[in-house]
Order: sequence, then structure tokens, then C-alpha cells
Amino acid sequence: MSISHVEQCTNCGACVSVCPQAAVSVQTDALFYRPSVDSTRCTECGLCEKRCPVLHLPAARQPLSAFRAVHHDDEVIWQSSSGGVFSALAEDIKQRGGIVFGAAYSEDCRAVRFACDEEVGLDALRRSKYTESLTGEAFAQIRAALEQGREVLFCGAPCQAAGLRSYLNRDYPNLIVCDFICGGFPSHQMYEEYLTALEQQYHAPVQSVNFRPKTFGWREYAIHITFANGKEYSCQASLDPFFSAFLLHRWNIRENCLQCPFTDRHLSDLTLGDFWRSRSVTGEGDADKGVSLLLANTEKGKAAVSLLSSSMQIKDIPVDKVLYALKPHGTAAAYSDERRRFMEEYRRSGVVRAGKALAVVRGSAALKARVRGAQRKRVAAALRRQK
Ligand SMILES: Cc1cc2nc3c(=O)[nH]c(=O)nc-3n(C[C@H](O)[C@H](O)[C@H](O)COP(=O)(O)OP(=O)(O)OC[C@H]3O[C@@H](n4cnc5c(N)ncnc54)[C@H](O)[C@@H]3O)c2cc1C
Repeated sequence: MSISHVEQCTNCGACVSVCPQAAVSVQTDALFYRPSVDSTRCTECGLCEKRCPVLHLPAARQPLSAFRAVHHDDEVIWQSSSGGVFSALAEDIKQRGGIVFGAAYSEDCRAVRFACDEEVGLDALRRSKYTESLTGEAFAQIRAALEQGREVLFCGAPCQAAGLRSYLNRDYPNLIVCDFICGGFPSHQMYEEYLTALEQQYHAPVQSVNFRPKTFGWREYAIHITFANGKEYSCQASLDPFFSAFLLHRWNIRENCLQCPFTDRHLSDLTLGDFWRSRSVTGEGDADKGVSLLLANTEKGKAAVSLLSSSMQIKDIPVDKVLYALKPHGTAAAYSDERRRFMEEYRRSGVVRAGKALAVVRGSAALKARVRGAQRKRVAAALRRQK
């Protein structure tokens, strides 16, 4: 058996988890994660292809309801990527004795793997980690918890939510599947190499990574890294060689994320996102702390939203006003050439030099970014002090 269509693979984790012989694993030594089959173990049962969600796509579908959502607790908003919906859902399910699965950094921060709150704590699952993640043992652990009758919340990328559904192959009333509006996964290898370069520069191992620190407010993406010797690196995304290649250009993401088949068919109960258009769609802006767009895709998702009213401010929005968020990504005509150039530069001179040469904003744009960053940093600090 060889997993065909491997170039379409989204790394959802279904084939790895479903194989009864443990013959499928994820290759971790390439630029992007890819499944690989051990032919000495494989019995040609075909289950990996039968359960591949990309090979068995359902029809596109629209959400049933849409909401603007903001957590009541400011501290939760500051600690979250957007408005804190994930935390509200997690707290709700934990109050009833449930268990929460999400993506967390490995101890050395070099990999992102799925874990449950009982292993790593809820805060480790919070915030977007902008690199590929591994579902690992999580799907099997989720099934075990569901079979024990526990309530389970899973939050991952749309492909991973589809992968979990395929793996389980039946609905469980005690499971809430949550995904997010996904702009694609940057290469895990580039991310690791980037951390290595920073460790050399700062002469100490990385201790924590935060891609959504909100130091410059919610709208100004930034990265904040701490090192074992107490030093810190904090940089706006547009000036950072790794983050700018993702956020401004999408050059370092899995190529097939650009044709993601799940943008308009979220197989989750709920979809979360940053509600950048909150003011124009709802008339209600934000104080640059963070606002979530929350989509309920199923009746179960709608019921879960109704339980959040004590922890979140939630406002109904007509679904047709937010369909823009579910459009296929698409790219500019010049994208392929630019990406090839970036990849060539990366192979020649590494992730930092390639990012500095081609991805970060330069000249007057860099100056403007710095001025804007300084202003936003002051405002964010003042907002944080207000409490
Ligand atoms: C790679 C990536 C790309 C994204 N692109 C967009 C976008 O283009 N537009 C948009 O509106 N929103 C995007 N988001 C979602 C957004 O950043 C927030 O994660 C989302 O709005 C939830 O915010 P929150 O405040 O409710 O929860 P948070 O506390 O921020 O919860 C984040 C949740 O995301 C999960 N997660 C974090 N990193 C990963 C990862 N690497 N792999 C799998 N799951 C992960 C965690 O399990 C956690 O449950 C993206 C997220 C990621 C991880």
C-alpha cells in the first residue's frame, strides 16, 4: 500500500491514527510533515485511504448561525489570540467534568503537538501557534474519553477537525468539535531552524514562544520569545523574518493549504476566527484587545454557544454578512514565482537571511511599522493597566 495523492495531504492525522498495524507515521525530517507507510507492517487493508477526509470530501456547507463574541474577563482576552471563545468553551466543558484537547508546544517549544488540559494545563492550549502541528495519540485518547462517557472539546485546524470525524466514523453526543478560520500552516522545519538561529544569537535555549502576545495590541501581530538566560525577543510580525514570510506573503506554508478544501466545508460544530470586520459588520468595534467571530455549523454548535452567555458577550450576526471569511484563499498571480524565489533563497542561505532579504518590510515601510508599533504598544500597555 502506498498513500496516493500524498501531495494533497493536509497532515490531518486520520490515516496515522486509524491504521490498525501502526504502519503509517508522519515523516518529520522534511520541510513539511508527510505521511509515510512502513511496507513491512502494512497489510493493504486500505483503511488509511478510506478514512482520508481529502479523498472523500463532503459538499460545501454554510454555517447555521454567526456571532460576534468577546469574553467578559479582560485577562482571558489578553491571553487569547482573538476574543477568547476557546477558553470560554473549555471552561464550560471542564465545569461539567469534561476534557479539552488542543495544540500545545513541546517542552523545548520546537514542535506543536495535541495534548489535553489534564496533561499540560489549559493555558498551554491557548493561543495560535503558527506552525504545523501533530495530532499524535490525541484521536485515540479522544475516542477512549468519549467511550467512557466524558464530555470532550477538541479544537484544531479545519483539516484536523475533518480528520478526527473520519477517524471516529460516528457521531458522539458528548463531543464538541471546534476549528478555526485557517490561513495555512508554516513549515515546521523552518520554524525549528528559526528557533535554532535565535538560540545562537541569544546564547540560550528557548523557554517560551508566543505568536499572539498582544504587546502591540490585537491588530498588530507580533512574536515574543523568552530564553533560559532571562533574555527576551519581541518583534512585530512585519519586521520578523519568519513571521513576515507567513503573515505578509504565505510563502512558507504548505503549498496545498493554498487550495485548502475545508475553507467552505468546516466539518466542526463551531468555527472560531479573528473578527477583523467587527465594526463594519456589526457597528461595534473593539479596544484592540481582541474580538472573535464565532460560527455555529451544527445544532450541537448552536446549543454550545447558548451556554456561553454567562462568560461572554455574544451578539447574533446575519450569516450572509460573514461568508467572506469562508472564501477559498486564492493568491496573487505573482505568488508562485515569489514563493519559488523565497524557497531558493531559504535553501541557499537559511530561514533568517531569506526572510530578511525578501519577506520583512523595508525602508520607509519598516519605519512606518516601527512608529505604528510604538504607538500601539503604548495604547496596549495603558489598556492593560486599566483592568
Ligand atoms: C495556523 C493558524 C492559522 C490561522 N489563520 C487564521 C486566519 O487566517 N483568520 C482568522 O480569522 N483566524 C485564523 N486563525 C485562528 C485565530 O488565530 C484564533 O486561533 C481563533 O480565532 C481562536 O481564538 P480564541 O481567542 O478563541 O482562542 P485561543 O486561545 O487563541 O485558542 C487557539 C486554539 O487554536 C488551536 N491551535 C493553536 N495553534 C494550533 C496549531 N498549530 N495547530 C492546530 N491547532 C492549533 C489550539 O488548540 C486552541 O484550541 C489561525 C490559527 C492558526 C493556529
